[in-house]
Amino acid sequence: MIDHTPLGQLKDFWDKEGMPYILSILDGRYRVPEIQTYATHLLGEVQARYSFQLQVTLSTTNSKDRAGKNIVLPFGASASQGRPTITFFVPAVRTLFRELRQKKLEGFRGRFERMLVTGFCHELDHLSRGMLERPTASQFVDDERIANAATCQNVMRVFVEVCGEELDKADMKVYAKWVACGRNAESQQWRDFIASTYGTISRGAWFASS
Ligand SMILES: [Zn+2]
Repeated sequence: MIDHTPLGQLKDFWDKEGMPYILSILDGRYRVPEIQTYATHLLGEVQARYSFQLQVTLSTTNSKDRAGKNIVLPFGASASQGRPTITFFVPAVRTLFRELRQKKLEGFRGRFERMLVTGFCHELDHLSRGMLERPTASQFVDDERIANAATCQNVMRVFVEVCGEELDKADMKVYAKWVACGRNAESQQWRDFIASTYGTISRGAWFASS
């Protein structure tokens, strides 16, 4: 029987359009070997750091910002009580999927795939370095400076330079800045870019506006 409830539709969407990419990474068979090698390395680091297995969970509601407002954050990581978790906020992920589809861009599924894989690896970049449960604003920005540099260099670079594939507009903006900064996470330009992206507005607002 087909489940036509809103929850059933969200689950159907995720099972068909999202989960296969994540499963292929977890199973060690993602189509881009260099990215698989990197993800396998990060998964090993996560396993070594925490006493619990990585959990990949789905949320059927969007996340809220500190003021309790809905934000369009597609994924996030946490490690509360030593449990490393990556959550996909399926309504936000589906919104991004539909936006890409509406733009009628060539190969929109490929763009969606790369956005999802980049996002998943980015959350692993955070978890593999350890997550602070309640970072201060400046720690939060510094974590993003390091994690975004790692994601740019090890995931986005491979899609763009090795595979010759285009990224989602928001990811491309970050990657272009990384190249312009000489791929240097310590450069003032990169620090300023990350601070302006993450320091003044919430991550969710950033995703929603990009
Ligand atoms: Zn991040």
